[in-house]
Amino acid sequence: MQIMKDSFGRTFPYIRMSITDVCNFKCGYCLPNGYQVDKSDNRKFLHLDEIKRLAKCFSELGVRKIRITGGEPTVRKDFFEIIKVLKYETDIEKVVITTNGYHLDEKAKSLLDSGLNGINISIDSLDRETFKKITGHDRLPEILRGIRNLQELGFENIKINAVLLNGVNSSEKDFEKWSEFIRNNKVDFRYIELMQTGDNLEYFKKYHIPSKIFKNYLNKNKWIYQTLGKDAGPSLNYINPEYKGKFGIIAPYSKDFCKTCNRLRITSRGDLRLCLFGNTGISVRHLLQKDDQLNELKDLILKQMQYKKESHYLELGDTGSTKNLSKTGG
Ligand code: SAM
Ligand code: SF4
Repeated sequence: MQIMKDSFGRTFPYIRMSITDVCNFKCGYCLPNGYQVDKSDNRKFLHLDEIKRLAKCFSELGVRKIRITGGEPTVRKDFFEIIKVLKYETDIEKVVITTNGYHLDEKAKSLLDSGLNGINISIDSLDRETFKKITGHDRLPEILRGIRNLQELGFENIKINAVLLNGVNSSEKDFEKWSEFIRNNKVDFRYIELMQTGDNLEYFKKYHIPSKIFKNYLNKNKWIYQTLGKDAGPSLNYINPEYKGKFGIIAPYSKDFCKTCNRLRITSRGDLRLCLFGNTGISVRHLLQKDDQLNELKDLILKQMQYKKESHYLELGDTGSTKNLSKTGG
């Protein structure tokens, strides 16, 4: 098998695939005015057949895990069908999603039945009012109910992500609340440092705070840094024997963040993106139209590997063509 490898020796067993740009939330750092139709772009989001062909191609290039994201992936009518097809009709071993948890209480059973291997849920605050202010939706209780429902059904792999926002969810009190939440709850909670995108410069200037503040809290409270495993993602993980859950930090501005990069991205319109940020990437959609294009598609993707850069250049304020993360799937 010829696997994907870049000029820095990194391999890519993991793909993040956005299946829609549409979102029903209005998170201040991402889509503060909600999803707006881009009238200049009338291409449709990837069709189920195209998604299946892509997954087949990637599995033949060494990909073992696909994360479905968006926009909000669960707004697609064929969302559960997509998960089932990836899970049962391709050789991808793990299918996971990132979701804002909209109607999670009602969806828990169908998620379990779809064969999904893991779920990342975005919850920026455990305070109902703060959650509402950030996302534009008073939906914290239904999301927390959804997590309980998933757990009662025996669903194991649940992670929660929050974007760390200065003065909004970055106080010791906020950290304590999460700490209580994961004490008896086998859920991993991670803070993601706010990233600058093409659209959010003002927001970024106002709310960005280095994740060191949370790291200091963890060190002070005897959380133990877990060294990176073979398939480690970008999260720095911390354990504490008194807690069922783990803490994590995703710090895209840290020096070595890109060193362990093991992922490529596909946008909802079928562009291969070599990095969440940056301008490198091309459309592969024309090679997703028929089953017999598989070899041509594999060749094209393998050739692209040489263009993957060593790092994003976010610390220099270079956000590439990324206007907001709903477009590239965060
Ligand atoms: N709608 C889904 C959700 O919110 O989970 C999936 C897509 S969203 C773009 C994926 C993740 O990116 C979410 O956890 C979100 O909080 C995060 N995100 C979005 N914009 C961000 C930014 N500017 N900086 C850091 N994280 C961001
Ligand atoms: Fe929607 Fe996710 Fe962006 Fe929030 S972060 S606006 S839920 S795509």
